[in-house]
Amino acid sequence: MHIKKHLSFTALREELSKQLLKMGDKRDQSKIKYSIHDCFMSGFAMMFFQDPSLLSFQERMKEKYNRSNLETVFKVKAIPKDSQLREVIDDSDFDKIEEVFSKYFKALQRGKHLESYKFLGGKYLITIDGSEYFSSEKINCPGCLRKESKRGNIRYYHEIVQAALVHPDHRQVIVLAPEQVRNTDGSEKQDCEINAGKRLLHKIRRYHPKLGIIIVADSLYSKQSFIKELKDERMSYILVAKPKDHKLMMEWVSEQKEMGNVSRIEHKDEKGREHVYEWINEVPLNGYKDTFWVNYFEYTILSDNKINYHNSWVTDIHIDRGNIKQLVRGGRSRWKIENETFNTLKNQGYHLEHNFGHGKKNLSINFFLLNLLAFFMHQILELTDILYKKCRAIFSSRKEYWNNLRTTFRTFLFESWEDYLRFFYSPP
Ligand SMILES: [Zn+2]
Repeated sequence: MHIKKHLSFTALREELSKQLLKMGDKRDQSKIKYSIHDCFMSGFAMMFFQDPSLLSFQERMKEKYNRSNLETVFKVKAIPKDSQLREVIDDSDFDKIEEVFSKYFKALQRGKHLESYKFLGGKYLITIDGSEYFSSEKINCPGCLRKESKRGNIRYYHEIVQAALVHPDHRQVIVLAPEQVRNTDGSEKQDCEINAGKRLLHKIRRYHPKLGIIIVADSLYSKQSFIKELKDERMSYILVAKPKDHKLMMEWVSEQKEMGNVSRIEHKDEKGREHVYEWINEVPLNGYKDTFWVNYFEYTILSDNKINYHNSWVTDIHIDRGNIKQLVRGGRSRWKIENETFNTLKNQGYHLEHNFGHGKKNLSINFFLLNLLAFFMHQILELTDILYKKCRAIFSSRKEYWNNLRTTFRTFLFESWEDYLRFFYSPP
């Protein structure tokens, strides 16, 4: 039994503050009214409460009480105006914000909160997947990706490859800093997801040199060139391998099936559905001379002899009767990044970018990172903060919970985050 350490809102907020204070400020210091810290922290508070009107409410509170919750809870000295906040955030680099993700990750690790996320061989499952977070036919910036339609219309968009630590038994996902799919000045060829995915692997290794990692990803990534990068970075993998992308390997597998060389276990569940696990170690990934040899497995669910579910994967982990079911669970946990991360960000309120515009430089990515960081902090509080969990339990839905948090934060002045949560829940 590991003793878990409480991670407080205040400790997490202080960690963010420290990073913001490290950001370089190129502006003429005699002329500035709002610090980089205050602009970013105010932006973060808006994301944290998913409240585009947060600044004006706190401004009014300040007029009334001479103080505001932005000061007491978020340590913002001067509340910036919308336009200045945007200008400062657009003009600032994102590397210091990015580092916060690994700081939080390490705090969770030290607090023993990640022990229960350990999977096969004590390694962690990290899923990676691409996602668009902005798209427009008009608004664009130099970093935008471009796609021309058949009619000749150009669509501008931003995409990231997101990484998240997941576990089949846990609802909370631990997000890691994403990698942008981003065009750079002067390069004619556009950036693409798979290249950003490779850069993401290097980034994860840089931040977490010793972490035991199993990368879980879709069929786009089960290519020799990507697996080479995985090997170089000492990472294991479970990657979807679709028949259309792996013709030679699949022919090899069928031949082996005919020869009876494929291992198989099956069982019937209480609903009468049949679960079939099949695997074969050491198959060639492709037809190249220097092909990698990988281990292959597939999983089928049948009910009334009809296929309900079927998928196939490749892995570097040696497959046997003892681990095949876990490997399938690991492979299937990929949906978590879509369901628990992207869908939450897109459909449960986390879509504030639309309210703040796109900027010329880094506004779009910085807002995205602040939003992701707010989501991350919510997940950490759900995992580690007892008072937060008790408050959440009072409300039937997440939406209702946040509506109440927002209204209260807009209306009453609190001395601290704890003081604020005690408004909802007083320990007996
Ligand atoms: Zn752009």
